[in-house]
Amino acid sequence: MDTKNMGFNTICTHLGEIKDEQFKGAISPIYMATSYAFEGVDIKRYPRYFNTPNQEALSKKIAKLEKGEASLIFGSGMAAISTTLFSFLQKGDHIILQRLLYGGTINLVNEEFDKHGIEYSFVDSPTKESFEQKIKPNTKVIYIETPSNPLLTITDIRAVAALAKEKGITTMIDNTFASPVNQNPISLGIDIVLHSATKYLGGHSDILAGAVIASEKNIDQIFQVAKNLGGSLSDFTVWMLERSIKTLGIRVKQQNKNARKLAKWLEKHEDISTVYYPGLKSHPDHELAKEQMKGYGGMLSFELREGLDASKFQKELQLIKNSMSLAGVESTMLTPSLTSHALLTPEERELQGIKDSLIRFSVGIEEKEDLMQDILQAIEKIKIPELEH
Ligand SMILES: *Cc1c(COP(=O)(O)O)cnc(C)c1O
Repeated sequence: MDTKNMGFNTICTHLGEIKDEQFKGAISPIYMATSYAFEGVDIKRYPRYFNTPNQEALSKKIAKLEKGEASLIFGSGMAAISTTLFSFLQKGDHIILQRLLYGGTINLVNEEFDKHGIEYSFVDSPTKESFEQKIKPNTKVIYIETPSNPLLTITDIRAVAALAKEKGITTMIDNTFASPVNQNPISLGIDIVLHSATKYLGGHSDILAGAVIASEKNIDQIFQVAKNLGGSLSDFTVWMLERSIKTLGIRVKQQNKNARKLAKWLEKHEDISTVYYPGLKSHPDHELAKEQMKGYGGMLSFELREGLDASKFQKELQLIKNSMSLAGVESTMLTPSLTSHALLTPEERELQGIKDSLIRFSVGIEEKEDLMQDILQAIEKIKIPELEH
C-alpha cells in the first residue's frame, strides 16, 4: 500500500510491522538474536548497530509518525539526547539552549560539557531575538523544548528554525511533551526531533526508551557516534514499544480532551489560583500553541489557593497517583519543587517561575468525571483542619 498519505492511526497500527511469514501470526514476531549471518547487509546485523529486524521496523514507524526520513531507537530518552548532542558538538563548538528544559538535559550540559570543551549558553526567555543575541561564530546547535516542563511555556518553533537555517546552525527539539500526535517539528523546519519514549510513545509507565528522528544524512551522523556509545534498546523492549505505539493516537487524543476539560474546570474552581495549560485562552502563549500544535497535550500544572497545602492535597488523592512518572494512561500528580526540579536551587526555580505550591498534573485516559471527583474530595479533606482552628 502507498504509505505516503497514510493516516496517523494507520501508521501507528501497521507501518513497519514485520510479517510473520513462518506462522502467519497477526503481529510482528520478536527477533532476539544478537548474532546474524552476513546477508548482503552493509554492516552485520547486531543490536548495538541499531539494525535488527525489530529495531529497523520500529524505526520506520517512528520516523513516519514524526514526518522524518529516518530514526534511531535508544535505551532511554537521555541516551538519545546525549548521543545526538555529542554527534553534533565537538571541542570548541558552542550550543545555545533554552533554560526551561528537562532536568536531565540541564544536568548533562552542566556536568559533562565542560569536560569535553563544549561551550554553552542558556536563554531565559526562548524568543527568536534572545537566541539571536547569543549566536557566536562557533555556534553549531540550537536546542529547544516545547511545551516545557512544568509550566507548559511555548517556544516559537518556526521562528527559531528559520533563524538557525539562515545562520547554518542545526536545530534540535525535545518533542516528548507534545508527542507526534500534537506536534511535528520537522514540518515546522526543525532538523532533529528527540523523544523520551518512556513517556507518551510508551504510554503505560513500563518502558524506558528514547528516539531521534531526522533526515537520512543527520541520522547517519548520529549513528556513527551511537554505535560507539552503545545506547541501543533491547529487542524485547523494542517490540513492547511497537505494541504501545499502536494505540498512541487514541491514547493521546483522549488525554488532550481530558486535559482541556480539566484545565477549564480547574480554572473556574474557587480553590485553585492559577492553571497553566496552552489550550486555555488565559495562557500567555495560547495563540502560538494554536498555530504550531494540533492538540494541546495531556500535561497541565496548577496552584491551589493560598492556605491549601499542595503535599497534603496530593496525599489525599485516591485515584490520581502521586508519582514521578508522566504521560501514562493513568493520571499522576507531583510537586516539581520537591521532585522533578528539586535539584535546582530555590533561586533557579524562582527564575523559572516554579512556585513551591505548583502541582504538575499528567492527565490520563480515565473518565474526566472521576478525576474531578477525586480532586474535589481531596480538597475537601485538606480544608477540614482549617475549619477546626
Ligand atoms: C523523561 C524525559 C526525558 C528523559 O527521558 P528518559 O527516558 O527518562 O531518559 C527527556 N525529556 C523530557 C521532556 C522528559 O520528560
